[in-house]
Formats: sequence, structure tokens, C-alpha cells
Amino acid sequence: MTSEQNRPADGPSERSAVVDLAAVEHNVGRLLDLARGRTLIAVVKADAYGHGAPRVARAALAAGAHMLGTAHVAEALALRAEGITAPVLAWLHTAATDFPAAVRQDVRLGLSGGELDLVLDAARAVGRPAVVHLKFDSGLGRNGATPAQWPELLERVRQAEGQGLLTVEGIFTHLAVADEPSRPETAQQLAAFRDAVRAARDAGLNPTMVHAANTPGLLSAADLPDPDTMLLDAVRVGLGLYGLSPFAERTPQEFGLIPAMTLRTRVANVKDVPAGAGVSYGLTYRTEGPTRLALIPLGYADGVPRVATGAPVRIGDRVYPVVGRIAMDQCVVDLSLGRPVGAGSQEQSVRIGDEAVLFGAGEDPSVVEWADAAGSINYEIVTRISPRVPREYVGVEPGSTHGQNRNAQRSGHPGADTGEEPAADSLEAPGADRDRGPGTGPGGVVPGQDAQEGSGESDAAGENWSLTRELGTAEETRELARALAPHLRAGDLVLLNGELGAGKTTFTQGLGEGLGVREGIISPTFVLARRHPNQADGPRPGGPDLVHVDAYRLTSAEDIESIDLEDTLDTCVTVVEWGTGKVEHLSASRLVVDIERARGAEAAPEQQGADLAGVLADLGAQWQDEDTANETRRVTLRGIGSRWAQCPRV
Ligand SMILES: *Cc1c(COP(=O)(O)O)cnc(C)c1O
Repeated sequence: MTSEQNRPADGPSERSAVVDLAAVEHNVGRLLDLARGRTLIAVVKADAYGHGAPRVARAALAAGAHMLGTAHVAEALALRAEGITAPVLAWLHTAATDFPAAVRQDVRLGLSGGELDLVLDAARAVGRPAVVHLKFDSGLGRNGATPAQWPELLERVRQAEGQGLLTVEGIFTHLAVADEPSRPETAQQLAAFRDAVRAARDAGLNPTMVHAANTPGLLSAADLPDPDTMLLDAVRVGLGLYGLSPFAERTPQEFGLIPAMTLRTRVANVKDVPAGAGVSYGLTYRTEGPTRLALIPLGYADGVPRVATGAPVRIGDRVYPVVGRIAMDQCVVDLSLGRPVGAGSQEQSVRIGDEAVLFGAGEDPSVVEWADAAGSINYEIVTRISPRVPREYVGVEPGSTHGQNRNAQRSGHPGADTGEEPAADSLEAPGADRDRGPGTGPGGVVPGQDAQEGSGESDAAGENWSLTRELGTAEETRELARALAPHLRAGDLVLLNGELGAGKTTFTQGLGEGLGVREGIISPTFVLARRHPNQADGPRPGGPDLVHVDAYRLTSAEDIESIDLEDTLDTCVTVVEWGTGKVEHLSASRLVVDIERARGAEAAPEQQGADLAGVLADLGAQWQDEDTANETRRVTLRGIGSRWAQCPRV
């Protein structure tokens, strides 16, 4: 069995798959938004794709998922044994499946046809109807009744309903090529499914949950002529919960998803070797010149694919390739072959005990790089991380006010109460261990406050952490923003506060440089919102655009509506100057940046109208920015909401 633990407070453990439950909660929020009010079935089969089913299930439910999905009845019963009482659907059975236990413990059953007699026997034995979702094979060719088998199944099921042995709650089908949205078969499957549902209604059944979409189906629904044909009543989402993208060419960040699992360990050995030294079994790799090797104590017994030679391992600010064969317990990276991460160092000395990350929440390295090296897909890489690797949980625990409010907002679902008190696990200090300690960036550091749970206010997620930097020059302000940019993703909202001339625009320019968006970020005086497209030759090709907003003269709710931020919010990084008190309703999570000038600070002008004085003041502020280029500033970053549970490494 997989061991699980909370992250030790006294430094990184030997090896672990760190699962960020705050990321899971964030992802559920995004998926609920994309599902536009549909029931969200959180698929936690295969131990939640290797992330740990009980913990992920609780986090997903707390964040608003309505129901759980597993392949096996045994997996559903394991959730029940953990005390999780939310509705669960299980859909892959054999003659040996424990149907009586499923009926007794209120596990909904996918029903393809062959198991019908066994399910009816179980219902009779338990003395209670089995709740089923009929499965239609619309073209995947796996489970489900074929169009030819469908009429007979409907007839038998209708009779059983009449006898009080079955309740048909749902009808579902599974898509074959939803991860390739340009293929025509998905629309064909959905059309066949629509006919099947109509036939069921004509036969006298009254299903309330019709569902087809998996993660790729949900993520591509918005691009369909009619998203309803895909979204139907419910969506069954696995991969997206874990913050991964099902599309070969699109990153999770493009959908505002955060990868939840980080596979990491610590360097076990470092040694210098001469040119021509062989590495690992078979001596398939020989060093080109004198070099240094680092030993990474994770191998195929840990679920690291043996064929993935060449895959990346990040140590510090650099990424190194695995060289030679991956063994049962370990693999080797060649330290002469590193490349920097972001603005990472050109040189660094790797030491025994240094943290080594195979893949993680950042974009570098990603699960997809390991999947590519292994000739596989991200689904397999995370799912196969073996029980030998302890799972460590970080992030906000389920039961946060954020999650429960979210849940309460969604109605018309079969109920999602876990019936559980939130687990009383300690929270990790944000940014501990995985993040570089404070004091390594430009300027001195004033200690921020410690991690705390949501403040318990009605709907506002609480402030998770704050980080203050004293910066000597405008250039340092820009540098800090540039270092922050790699941590930003589509869907992020950044609020910039500070009096005129404090350097808000300078900060935005730094963000723009780090994101690699088209230049020309100026104080947004004459235009309320300006979109800066991401540049293909920048540091984040394919990354989000930056939307730069000046909320200074926005006063009423209608003013804010009028600039239509909702349209770009999910797909861009939105930076709002003077946003505090005005745009918080746009997102439960936000990063707040307060810039204070150490001296010469004037209070923000009181007057807020679209008047000439305001325009001139802003223009003046640009000059002031230059005038005050060498004035010290205090910049405070504050993370609010589950998206910003962790303090970024800046
Ligand atoms: C695994 C599975 C899902 C979830 O698929 P994702 O692509 O991970 O979202 C949905 N439905 C069925 C029937 C499945 O087997």
C-alpha cells in the first residue's frame, strides 16, 4: 500500500511524490467553471491517478465536486471504508465483483448489460434497488451496450425498475478521440449517444444524469458549435483534477490548471569522472569529457520508466538529462549537460543532499517531458509512481471555507457531503523546502507572516502568506517582477497598489518581459485595458497574454463590467493597477502587490473621475518614475486564495 504522510517540517524527506491539495482544489474550481453548472464527477480511480484517492477525493469534494468516479467497485468501497459518503459511481466489473456490497454501501453501478443478472441478484439479496448508470458504447469499442444490444437492455432494465430492483439514475458513454479535437468521430459518438438517450426516454426510463465528457471533452467543449452537446448533465473528469493537460500540444497552464504532483528526491552521490567513463548497466553511455555525475535515487521500482533515458531532472536552477540506463533504484544525470531554468544560473555546484525534481508543479520539468522520453502519456507517468514512493500532502486541507462555499453555490446535484470533519493535518509553511529560502533574491527580506488557513470570512479566501522586499532601485522592482513572471499562469489576477510614481507600471513591464509579451507596456492612461499578446520568440512561447488594466478611474460596478475582463480573465494574466476594492469579485484567488515608496510618498489622489487632472497626474507619474528611479521601495507580495497557497520562489 502507498504510504502517506504530511510533509515533515524539518526539511525535505529522502524521496516523495508531493501532492498539492490546494492545486487539486484550484483545478476543481476551474473545471466547475468550464462545466458551467453541470455536475462534476471527480474520477479518482487508480488511487487518484497515483495521487492518493482518499485525500484527493476529500479535496475535490470540498472544492465543489459533486460525485466521485472509480473504475472498480473495490475502489469505491475503499472510499467508503475511509468514511467518504459522497455519491460514487463505479463502472468496470467482472463476475467476481462484490455487487451486494456495492448495493449495501450505496455505490452507483455502471451497467453495460452482461452484469445485469448479478446486479439484480444483489438488489434482491440486499433488499434495496441498485442505482445504475446505463453504459452505451457509442464507438469506443470497450464496455457498454452496442446500438444492437441497446433496445433489449432498455426493456430488461425497465422491467427491473418496475419490480423495484433497479433505479436508472444515469446514462453515459465514453469518448475515444476527445484528446484530438479536430477528429470527426467525437461528434459522431455524441450523435449516436443522443439517439440512445432518446430511445431510453421513449422506453419509459427517466435518467437525470446523462454524461459523456472526460477531461479532453470538457476542455474542448467551449470550442464546439454547441457546447451543450458535450457537457450534457454531467462531466467525468480525471486528468484535469491533477492539473495535467490531455492534449499533446497544449499545456495545463493554458487552461489555468496546476499540476498537483511533484516527484522529487535528494542527490545521493556526486562524483568526478574522466572522459570515456561508462555509466550504469550495459555501459550504454560514456562521458565525452571529464565531467561530474550525480546519482538520483529513484528508479523503475519507484515507477520511473526504465526506457526514459534522456528525461530531465532539475537540481537547483538547472535541468540535467538522465544518462545511461535507468536501474531499479536509481539513475544518473550528467552535470556537464545542464541547461538553465528560466533565468537560472549558468554555473552551479551540485552537492550530495541537494533537492532533485523529476517533474513538478512548475513547467520545468513537466510530466510531459517524462512521458515523451518514455514514449507514453502523462496519465501513465503519474499513475505508475509506485507505492515505494511515499505521498506527501501539502496545501489547504479540504473543509476550507473556500471549498465549502463553492460547494454550497452549486445546486441540483446528488449531494456532496463527505460527512467528514476535515482531517486535522498540519499545514506546511508556504514555500518551505521546495522553495528557496528567503533572502536570496534582490534586496533584503522582511519576514512575512506564516501560513494560515482561510480567514473564515464569508467568501473571501484568506491571505496565505506575505513576502516583503526592500528594493533599492526601479530596476530591482522590474527584476522582482521578472522573477515572478514564470510563476504566473493563464487565469491569474494580480492587483497592483501604490501611489503615483511608486513603480506599478515598471513592475508590470517586468512581468511583461518575464512572460515574453509584446512590448509597449505603458501607464494605461488613455485606455482602460490593453492586451499584450505573448510572443513566440519570448521566454514563454504559447504562454498567456498579459492584460494590463488601470482601474483608477473605474468607480462603479458598471464601469468594471464595461471593460469585459470576464472574457480574458481565464486565458490571460490580468494585472490591475488600483484594483484593490474594485475587482476582487473576479477571482477567489489573487496575488496582491503593494509598492510603497520609502519617502516622498503622497497619498493617492482622492478625486476619481475621468478628468483631465487625472490624465495629467498619470502622465506626470511616468516622469516621476524616472525621477525616483533610485529611491528605495518596499514591495510586499500577498497570496490570497487556494491558487496562491504557496509562496512562489522569487
Ligand atoms: C478514466 C475515465 C474517465 C476520466 O478520464 P480523464 O481523461 O482522465 O478525464 C472518465 N470516464 C471513464 C469511463 C473513464 O474510464
